[in-house]
Amino acid sequence: MPVGRLRQDGDKPFGDDLPKQVALVGGQLRLSVNAFAIDDGHEVILIDTGAANAWHPTMGRLPQALDEAGIDARRIRIVCFTHTHLDHIQGLVLADGRDAFPRLARLLVPREELDLFRTEARLKRFHDMAEPFEAGDRLGTHVDIIGAHGHEVGHSCFRASSGGECILIWGDTVHVPSLQFDRPEVTWEFDTDQDQARESRLRLLALAADDHCFVAGAHLDSPGIGRVARSGGGFRFEPL
Ligand SMILES: [Zn+2]
Repeated sequence: MPVGRLRQDGDKPFGDDLPKQVALVGGQLRLSVNAFAIDDGHEVILIDTGAANAWHPTMGRLPQALDEAGIDARRIRIVCFTHTHLDHIQGLVLADGRDAFPRLARLLVPREELDLFRTEARLKRFHDMAEPFEAGDRLGTHVDIIGAHGHEVGHSCFRASSGGECILIWGDTVHVPSLQFDRPEVTWEFDTDQDQARESRLRLLALAADDHCFVAGAHLDSPGIGRVARSGGGFRFEPL
C-alpha cells in the first residue's frame, strides 16, 4: 500500500513528516491479510475469509493455511465478517469458483452492511443466506460481539473468552502496526468515518490492555496475534 493511505488529523497524508518508526518495504507499506478460526473442539467459527483471487496475487492462501492448521474446511459451518471489504469476504469462493466451505450453514454479516454485502456480484449465491448481527449479540457460549464502527459502518470485533482468558478478533482496528499502536490517532484513507474509526481503535486498545486480552488483527504482521500494553501516551504491541 502507498504510504499516502496513512492520515493525520483532518484526513491529511504525511509528507516529509512521516514518523520514523513506519516500517517500509520498497518504499511501501506491507499489508498482511489474516483470517482467524475459533475451534472449541466441537465447532469451528471462521472470522473473515481473506481475498481469494479477487485482489492481490499474493493473497488467497486461506485453504493452505487451514490445511497447515489441521482444520478441514468441511468443519467450518459458521463464517462471520468483521466488515464487508473485499479482503475479508471474497474467500467464501475459491479461485476456481467452488465454495470454500461446502457445509456452510450460517453467514453472519454486520446489520449495517447487509446491503453492501449484497452488491458483491462474485458472491451472489450467498446474498440470501447472509444473516445480520449487531453489537451486543452473542455467538454460542464463548463469543460476544463488540461494535467497532468507523473503518466501515458496521465494523465489529469478536471477543472469545475461555478459562479466564480472552482474545479480541478485531478486524481492521489497526492497519499499520509499526505506527498505530504507538500513535493510535493516525487513521487510514479507507476508514469510512475517520473520527469514529480513531475512537473505536482507542477504545479497543484500552480494552485489550486493561483486560489483558490477546488481540488478533486482520492486518497485523504474522502471526497476527499478541498482547497490547500501555506505553507512554499510546500503546505497544507484543506479538506472540
Ligand atoms: Zn481489511
